[in-house]
Amino acid sequence: MACFPPGSNTSTISTNSLNTEASDGHEKIPPSQSDTTPSIVTLLTQRTLPFLLFRMRRVLFLCGLITALAMSPFAALAFTVFDSDGTPNARIFLKPEEDPLVEEAASELASFLQRMNGKVAQIQKTASAKSVPSGSGVIALGKLADELGLAMNRHSAARDGFRYKVDHARLLLVGETPQGVLHGAYDLLERLGCGWFAPGTIGEVVPSIRKATLPDSLDYTGLSDSVNRRFWYGGKGNPDKSTQQWITRNKAEFNQGSWNHSWHGLVSSKEHFAAHPEYFSLNRGKRTTKQLCTTNPETVRIASESLLLRMQSENQRVFAAGPNDGGNLCECPTCAKLDSPGYFEPTSGQPSCADRIFGFAGTLASITSKQFPEKDLGILVYSEYSRPPVKLSNLHPNVFPMIAPIRRCRFHGPNNPACESSRLLGSEIAAWGALSKKIGFYAYNYNLADALVPLSKISYYKRLADSLRQTNPVELAWIFESIDSWSAHAPHFYLCTKLAWSSTIDVDAEMERYFTGFYAESAVPMRRYWQRLDSAYDKTPVHVGSQYGLHQIWTPDLLAKSRADIAEARTLAKSDRVKQTIALADAGLRNAELFMEIWNHIGACEFAKAAQSQNALKAHIDSISAKTDPNWIHERYAWGYYTRFVGLTVDAGAAALADGGQLIAQIPETWRTLKDPERVGTSQKWWTPEMDDSRWEPMQTFNQSWADYGLAHYHGDLWYRSTFTLPTTLPEGDLRLWFGGFDYDIEVFLNGNRLGGWLGFAKPAEFADIRKHLKPGANQITIRVSSGDLGELGTGGLMMPSMIYRWNGKSVLPTGKKGVEYIQ
Ligand SMILES: [Zn+2]
Ligand SMILES: [Zn+2]
Repeated sequence: MACFPPGSNTSTISTNSLNTEASDGHEKIPPSQSDTTPSIVTLLTQRTLPFLLFRMRRVLFLCGLITALAMSPFAALAFTVFDSDGTPNARIFLKPEEDPLVEEAASELASFLQRMNGKVAQIQKTASAKSVPSGSGVIALGKLADELGLAMNRHSAARDGFRYKVDHARLLLVGETPQGVLHGAYDLLERLGCGWFAPGTIGEVVPSIRKATLPDSLDYTGLSDSVNRRFWYGGKGNPDKSTQQWITRNKAEFNQGSWNHSWHGLVSSKEHFAAHPEYFSLNRGKRTTKQLCTTNPETVRIASESLLLRMQSENQRVFAAGPNDGGNLCECPTCAKLDSPGYFEPTSGQPSCADRIFGFAGTLASITSKQFPEKDLGILVYSEYSRPPVKLSNLHPNVFPMIAPIRRCRFHGPNNPACESSRLLGSEIAAWGALSKKIGFYAYNYNLADALVPLSKISYYKRLADSLRQTNPVELAWIFESIDSWSAHAPHFYLCTKLAWSSTIDVDAEMERYFTGFYAESAVPMRRYWQRLDSAYDKTPVHVGSQYGLHQIWTPDLLAKSRADIAEARTLAKSDRVKQTIALADAGLRNAELFMEIWNHIGACEFAKAAQSQNALKAHIDSISAKTDPNWIHERYAWGYYTRFVGLTVDAGAAALADGGQLIAQIPETWRTLKDPERVGTSQKWWTPEMDDSRWEPMQTFNQSWADYGLAHYHGDLWYRSTFTLPTTLPEGDLRLWFGGFDYDIEVFLNGNRLGGWLGFAKPAEFADIRKHLKPGANQITIRVSSGDLGELGTGGLMMPSMIYRWNGKSVLPTGKKGVEYIQ
């Protein structure tokens, strides 16, 4: 028997801040019951108590208690859903002409109730409410329940809420819409102990119980506080069938519109550019079709007409009206005047331009809302318009901003004290929340560029939920951008479905339900595994959105303890389902172990060993990429990002040191550095060996990233200086200076001689035939570098080890698109 806390508090939702009181039946339970020994009834309805008990690790105790109390006299006070030993099986009544979603609700209820006690649950169609009997096991749905007197007493903006009530020994279930009835059915099943923790049979938990009861005072209304819940998975975009079913069963699916980049669709360049280039953006003195000139009154007219046409023909709530992707906003004087001098987006140093974007949206909304007061314009809060406007004092009520924090830290949720970027995000959420009662959040559910080693964002979402709650939103909207790699991300994927339904959930309680439900008999070590990992991501001061910071999270200590947890979980696992959940997590941990092996070899310039571990990583990814339902790993993302950011360096290093190639000296990991924001270093000859660098800052290059030194937003030059020691006699042949990877523009001086420069991101580069610049003993090297504009990553400067080596006469570096570009 699977034993985990029944029900959840995910449904104790309010659509606005006024409705904070749940209409859950447990508040109506007489004190005589709940103040004395808890009965099965109170345990099934008091959604908080079981979590507290479980937090005290009283799993076995509680399971015993439920079994014992199920046979106690208190059970008689309850409405019986089914009783294997007694008469009633569930009988589900609905009208013959019901909506297909209500029919689905009936069939899902029947199917899961039957699986719980093994007896057939009947579905009966009847046109007349009068023919629905009273008595144990009777459940009436939809229109029939409505005719029997149950109505929605509160409403949600999404209109997919539900209410169920035990009424004269019948259970009635109604919804705001047929979708609401289906949501109510799943909520009821969760209350009775079912859970859908991951797609497929691995994540489905249906308890085997003899008797299921509900309190006869039960009257519960579940309303979502979000009007959009969209789940985007991997390269496929839409979730596969089994993932879709999992989302539906967690009440999470609800698409109401779009926040996409959309200006190109509002004013068609095909139609208008030739005759009216002035409708479009001025970029570097020329009109282009990159963006719109939003201060041109004709642009406003045409864009609003496009929106009105769509609103007439498309049945949705939110219509995208934000800029095209890729920057390049209009530079004409009228548009540029809307930005505030000195107000910048810190990650790019470009002017912050939310005032013009949201001002334009407000103008459009003031036109469209006259005809369509219920329809909103969806605009992303993104890239150069992440920071809140300073001139607008509020947004038009029909403008719906959605925060898409691609430029903010992925590891640390809003207001995490360990992270400056997350504090900025926290302040932005508060500011946007003050400007608008409608707030969306576009969540990036993965660490932008990595081989999909396990990442936990539970603390991130807990901080986010806190932060959103403080803005008192009236309506929320969610889009989750995920890579369907369940070996790496499973717990926070589940949390996202619950958060999408309600931002007011108790995250800890919901995760407790997950750990005890999904991992069952292996819950104790698996909870420990994920919580330790989650805490490492939450507390480690590493902010780089890629693979470069992972070694700070995945320390040898974390790897060892994680491995021990998985081993313990495996010894506890009894059922095939639970064994599969452990194998899934194990596959993710193996990714991390292999990745860290590679990383440590790179750090020591042991590229042959790194290549061996890389082969093992590839074999591992191949072996698990065939496993689906849910997808264990997204092969294209995992291997693609790995090779693009790390694999090129390993391949090049291994080729360089094979077949007679010889490592002569590794340049030390720690350099001395100085910022040069005014770019005076070249004329002041900072590259000469004699330059006094004793006061320059020590900086690591492979072990730390620019973001870790607070340089994520730095756009000037940075100079690096170091010395390395060579033996008295150097080997014969072509000696080369090799760089494993950098970001983005480097210029190199060896013992005062300028070797040239390279442009590239995370790609190896080298200078050949440098013997003439080298000398035995100490050699001085200086590098000037400026970072590229990949603000999302937080990288910069030297990112990989550098070395002097003897060329084997045949290794070549990647060229073309895969390689770096030489500058004189
Ligand atoms: Zn303009
Ligand atoms: Zn951070």
